[in-house]
Amino acid sequence: MSKILIVEDEVSIAELERDYLELGGFEVEIKNNGKEGLEAAINADYDLLILDLMLPEVDGFEICRKVRETKNTPILLVSAKKDDIDKIRGLGLGADDYITKPFSPSELVARVKAHLARYERLIGSMAQENEIIEIRGIKIDKTARRVYVNGEEKAFTTKEFDLLTFLAQNPNHVFTKEELFREIWDMESIGDIATVTVHIKKIREKIEFDTSKPQYIETIWGVGYRFKV
Ligand code: CA
Repeated sequence: MSKILIVEDEVSIAELERDYLELGGFEVEIKNNGKEGLEAAINADYDLLILDLMLPEVDGFEICRKVRETKNTPILLVSAKKDDIDKIRGLGLGADDYITKPFSPSELVARVKAHLARYERLIGSMAQENEIIEIRGIKIDKTARRVYVNGEEKAFTTKEFDLLTFLAQNPNHVFTKEELFREIWDMESIGDIATVTVHIKKIREKIEFDTSKPQYIETIWGVGYRFKV
C-alpha cells in the first residue's frame, strides 16, 4: 500500500485530505507543522508528499527544497493563493505538481494516483534486470558476477568466473586451450595453456557433481573443452 505524508497546519483540511486518500486505498500520515513534516519527510520513506506551502516554522518551499537534496519522492504542493503558482514555477523546487485551495478532494486523489503511477513507471524503467545465464542447475549472474549451483552460491575467482561464463555463453562450441587462454588471459599474463587446465579443474570441483564424469564442461581429447547443453 502506498504511504503518503500530508504536511498541513489546518487540521480540518488535513483530515479531509486523509479521509479521501484512505478511501482511495492509501496509507496516510499527517504532520501539522513544518518542522515535524520536514523531519518525517527526510527520515521516513513515503511514496508521495503533499505539502502545504504556508506552514509554521518551516514552510512548504523549504521542505520541498530539502527533500529534493536527497530524494525523488513525488511532491504535490498545496497553496492557498493562486499567485503562489508563479512563485513555485520560478523557484524550480523540483515539485511535481501543485494544487490551489479550495480543491475538490477527488481531484487531489486523482492527481496523487497519476503521480504515483508515473513515478512507478520511472523507477521500473530505471531498474535494469541482471543478465543471467541459466543452464540446467547452474545459474550465472553476469551482472553481479555470482554463480549458483542448484541454488547454492559458489565462490569463483575472477578468471574462473570469466572462463566459466565464456564457455557457458558459447554452449556446445569446442575451444582449444590456446583459444581459451587468449580469450580470458591477456597477452602479458604470466602463464601458459596449462593455466587453462588448472582453472577448468577448479571450476569442475565447484559445479560438477562428479568431477570424473563432468556433466557441464566436457574434455574433448586432443582438442580442448566445451560446455555441453
Ligand atoms: Ca497553511
